[in-house]
Amino acid sequence: MRTIGYERPETLDAAIAAYSGSGSGSRYIAGGTTLYDLMKLGVETPTHLIDITAIANLDRIETEGDVTRFGTMALMSDVAETPAIRTEYPVLSESLLKAASQQLRNMATVGGNLLQRTRCPYFRAGNGVYPCNKRQPGSGCAALGGLDRSQAVLGASGSCNAVSPGDWPVALLALDARVEIIGIDGQRTLPLDGLYRLPAERPEADHNLNPGDIIIGITVPKTAAGRASTYHKIRDRESFAFALASAAVAMEIEGAVVRDVRIALGGVATLPWRARQAESVIVGRTLTRELAVEAGRAAFQDARPGRHNRFKIDLGVQVVADALMIAAGRNVR
Ligand SMILES: Cc1cc2nc3c(=O)[nH]c(=O)nc-3n(C[C@H](O)[C@H](O)[C@H](O)COP(=O)(O)OP(=O)(O)OC[C@H]3O[C@@H](n4cnc5c(N)ncnc54)[C@H](O)[C@@H]3O)c2cc1C
Ligand code: SF4
Repeated sequence: MRTIGYERPETLDAAIAAYSGSGSGSRYIAGGTTLYDLMKLGVETPTHLIDITAIANLDRIETEGDVTRFGTMALMSDVAETPAIRTEYPVLSESLLKAASQQLRNMATVGGNLLQRTRCPYFRAGNGVYPCNKRQPGSGCAALGGLDRSQAVLGASGSCNAVSPGDWPVALLALDARVEIIGIDGQRTLPLDGLYRLPAERPEADHNLNPGDIIIGITVPKTAAGRASTYHKIRDRESFAFALASAAVAMEIEGAVVRDVRIALGGVATLPWRARQAESVIVGRTLTRELAVEAGRAAFQDARPGRHNRFKIDLGVQVVADALMIAAGRNVR
């Protein structure tokens, strides 16, 4: 039996002070759907839990003005079902509705979702069963050269090719979201693509948060592209499964010409992946199915498949092309 401390502060200052006072074994806990899961698997072994659910006003969804703001404790289900979100950002609503299950979405928070860990089967296996640089730095990587059907084809390194699992961060990336953070040294914001790390030198570190940092909110600008957006996700089962390949697209068409497009990929990369090469294929041109497939190929031109995941490239090309055509169909004025 291991003893784990628990407290439930009522302010952000108290939460940060609790973290500072209880050391490197501390973890914040929000909905608990990832953290408790990883504790049961022995991947996470916190000595102290700081429950942030009693802190006031962290669950607000603010839709007035030019920027929409999601408090970190807003539930996935509440955000997905907010009428203004369905209208202004179909990509966000769809990414949440295609994630996990209704029961999980009723518990899980949009802030916690940003920090969920990879579903790499070797990472989640029993303690010490497989070498895993993410779980035990320097131990090696069982997935490289192992069963790699679900692993990344983009952004992998010689020490880790684990897929970033979340759908919501991929959708946020296509909207140029920013993340608000408060920590021991005060408050700051990061662009979402500055939050995540490639698994190069330190595969155990998924993100650029400092110890004790709390995500307090996420902001997204309102744009015409956001209103004509979509999240397209292909998985082994039609529900309750992580992406094999997914694409978030936000697009603005004027006349017949694409004026603005943002494409982000999920299920295929080690972090939420912005496909800028694909975007540059399309901007300033008239979208056809052929051009959409060309953009899909550009998105995967740097892909490096392993033994069993080459199919993700062909699948991903079609997912990008389909998502582009869906978003184009929503550009009705
Ligand atoms: C069976 C199953 C299927 C799933 N399927 C999908 C899927 O298809 N797609 C998908 O995207 N997700 C899926 N998920 C993941 C699910 O969406 C996440 O578990 C959930 O979003 C995490 O939110 P939470 O509030 O429960 O986080 P928690 O479990 O409370 O926390 C997760 C991590 O974030 C940290 N944390 C939480 N909040 C903060 C904060 N505000 N500041 C700093 N650190 C914080 C915690 O310390 C912990 O490390 C699935 C989960 C399960 C269990
Ligand atoms: S891919 Fe990454 S998470 Fe999976 S076994 Fe290798 S090091 Fe661990």
